[in-house]
This record gives sequence, C-alpha cells and structure tokens, in this order.
Amino acid sequence: MKDRGYYEGFGGAYLPEILVATFDELVETFQKAKDDPVFWQEYVDIMSTYSCRPTPITFAENLTRHFGGARIYIKREDLNHTGAHKANNVMGQGLLVKRMGKSRVIAETGAGQHGVATATMAAKFGFKCTIYMGEVDVRRQRPNVFWMERLGAEVVTVREGTRILKDAINEAFRDWVTNMDTTHYVLGTACGPHPFPEMVSFFQSIIGKEARKQILEREGRLPDRIYACVGGGSNALGIFKAFLNDPVELVGVEAGGKGLATGKHASRLSSKDASIGVAQGYKTYFLQDNDGQMKETHSVAAGLDYVGVSPILAQYAENGRIRFEAATDREVVDALSLTIKKEGLIPALESAHAFAQVFKEAPAMSKEDIILINQSGRGDKDIFTVADAFADPKWQEFIKEKAQEYHA
Ligand SMILES: *Cc1c(COP(=O)(O)O)cnc(C)c1O
Repeated sequence: MKDRGYYEGFGGAYLPEILVATFDELVETFQKAKDDPVFWQEYVDIMSTYSCRPTPITFAENLTRHFGGARIYIKREDLNHTGAHKANNVMGQGLLVKRMGKSRVIAETGAGQHGVATATMAAKFGFKCTIYMGEVDVRRQRPNVFWMERLGAEVVTVREGTRILKDAINEAFRDWVTNMDTTHYVLGTACGPHPFPEMVSFFQSIIGKEARKQILEREGRLPDRIYACVGGGSNALGIFKAFLNDPVELVGVEAGGKGLATGKHASRLSSKDASIGVAQGYKTYFLQDNDGQMKETHSVAAGLDYVGVSPILAQYAENGRIRFEAATDREVVDALSLTIKKEGLIPALESAHAFAQVFKEAPAMSKEDIILINQSGRGDKDIFTVADAFADPKWQEFIKEKAQEYHA
C-alpha cells in the first residue's frame, strides 16, 4: 500500500480522483529530494544567501532577570526575509517546483503573510503566481495586497461563501484541478493532504537543527523546555522536530482568544471544543459543530486563527509527547509589551503567544533551567492591532484614521 502520511490515524490524503496523479508526482519528487543531500545543500545555500540563515539565538538577559527563574533564549525566525519562518517553507517548495519543471504557483492567504512570502519566492524563481484571498481579508490586508501585486502576483478576490480563508482554499483547489500540468499549490503550513504536513515540517526543521547546535555551543547542554505558538503548526514542528527524541519538554501554545470559556478562541488541542473530522483533504481535530460545520474562530493574531491543526501535532497531543496550552489575547498583548521594553524585540502577535506562556511558567523554574522560545516572526505588521489594544489616548486619532484607511 502507498504511504498516505498517517500519524496514528491522523492525516492522510482525502483527494478528488482527478488530483491523485498530481499528488503522486509531488510525493515522489519530495521523497527523492528529501533523500538527496545535494538538494538539502541547495536549500541551505539559498536560505543563507537570501534569507539570513542561520538565524541566531538571543539570550534574553533582561527577561531572565525580571522573572528570576529559568534562563530564557530566543530563536530569531523574525530575521528571515519577509519577516517570519514562512520563508523556509515557500523557498523549499520553490526548489521542488523547479525540479518538477512547473512554471506557475498558486496559494491561498488569510492574513496575507503567506501570500507575500509566496509572491516573493515566485519573483525570485521566475514563476507565474496567483494568490487567492477572501474579499473580507483583501479589505483587511491592503498593504499585503499592494506588495503581492508589485511582486508580480495576480490577487484573486474570492466572493464565495463567507469570503475568508476557507473559501480561498476551495478556490485554490479548483484552480489546481484545472491547471495541474503547469501549476503547484504552495500550501502555507503543516496541514492539508499528504505530503504537505511532512513536506512543510521537513523544510521548517532547519529551525530546530540550527537551534540544537547553537544552544549546545552556548550552554553545553540541551534546553529543558521549548515553546512555540501553534496556528497550523509549521513553526512549532520546525523547532520541535530536532528534539523529539531528547528529554526536552515541548510546549505548543494556541490562541486562547477572549478566553476558553467564551468559545471565542482557536484552541484545538488545548481545549475540549474541537473534535476529530475530515475536511480540506485530511483528518485532524477541527473546531466544528455536531453537523461538521466549521465554527468561527477568534484570535488577536490572524496567523493563529485557523479551524484545523497539523495532523502531526494531533498525534503528539494524543500520545502526550507535546503539551498544549492556550494564551489569551490579553496575556499576549501584555507579554508583547514587556518583551519590547525589556529586550528591544518586537515579536509578531503570533509569536507573543509562546512568550506569554513562558512568562507564566519561567518564575517557578530553577535558575539552572534553560528555556528556548521560537520567535516565529516580527511584529511590524501588527502595528494597528497592537495600537488598538493598548488604546493609548495620545495615538487614538491617528489609529482611528489609519484603521479606517486599512479596514475600509
Ligand atoms: C503564519 C504565522 C504563524 C502560524 O503558522 P504556523 O504554521 O503555526 O507556524 C505563526 N507566526 C507567524 C509570525 C506567522 O506569520
């Protein structure tokens, strides 16, 4: 039987017949590339000349002193080109597209970050590029739409359904079915049908490979706990993978939104609100109602606001290898504020979820313990959301004007 990417029952590839041959080609190309040291070297080369790899680890001396517990280190994925770990995935898939001899890429995007990353990769490699985006998101993310178009991408506004991310995913699949011969669908996280979960986490595993070496060089031993935020799960798997067989506690932090009790969150593995189902071509925990209709999710961080989650993480939740927690919007904005003031770093709101959980746990740990946080991205993009959350009267007029301009 063909390997369909099952992780203790999660995952798989539930595909329309017409896409089976395209997925077979992708699985084969990926498996060959994965086993080829020349391919990995090609990948490392482009990431080091185009996207600042290896990204450093930073000792957060002031935060460590502030909490008086474990020593806190930060893996700096915010220093990647386009500002987040997403570059690792899109550049890797770009190299595979070249190997398959295809000339066009498509992607879906909600918050716009994956769209910008994919359009950037397409510009660099000379591919045609189409980005699908729900009408609601197009309005919310005007600056990202602007840059995608300047990068040469065609941005297609999706007016079906609720006009958000899941509708954009459906449109992208429709495009793929029509244009399989020339086109590759660049999925943005470790979700979707096999081989995407395995493939995306393979490219992201560069984070943990580097971090393991870096912390050993600096501290002479492995960290005690590693924290990463979890949207689809790609940056978390990226840093966790290199430590799965070590005595290191791994903590995934989901969006607690307005609090788990309110139902306004995106906690699939850290709450009891999600259930196992099959949607968008794979089996995992989804936030869905009894009829399998997807629920509305909420998070201050657009990148964590997703109904499904990586099947690989679902497996590790089930067997207990990874612990899952939730941080609320309020805790996240407070953690962001403290990190900016203490360390001069501006993490993305997504990444700040990992910081928030660390700040809850670090004080109770010993001064000898070591914590590693994956800072998945930088927070410049969040300026209006954060300004809104702080509601500083000095900035209120300006924020209102700008918010109108961007959300109008
Ligand atoms: C997109 C994004 C995420 C969420 O995606 P994962 O696949 O869960 O990593 C997290 N952080 C940042 C900065 C992002 O842009």
